[in-house]
Amino acid sequence: MLRYDKSDDSYSQEVMDFLVEIVDREEISGNPLGIAKQALDRGIASLSTKQLNVIQRFIESYQNRNECDVCLNDNVNSFIDSIYVADFGTCAVCEEARNKFMAD
Ligand SMILES: [Zn+2]
Repeated sequence: MLRYDKSDDSYSQEVMDFLVEIVDREEISGNPLGIAKQALDRGIASLSTKQLNVIQRFIESYQNRNECDVCLNDNVNSFIDSIYVADFGTCAVCEEARNKFMAD
């Protein structure tokens, strides 16, 4: 599921959005934090393959830790969605479906 292609702007943007949020929330520390800060300062293209692997492993373990109770991450399409899961226990799609169900 995780892949990195420097020509894939939407993927780079998705990683950057995630890093901005996760650094802001102080949910990243140590080596991954240093790499995240570099990405935010100088762009994701400035990272070496090794650094990218560290970031990808961080995102992967973050997603594994924060799995939607309902869809088990089937409806989680972006890394930012995983931050929503961390806050609410379910993803935005399942949360909305549940609210709709409650309202009926
Ligand atoms: Zn879900």
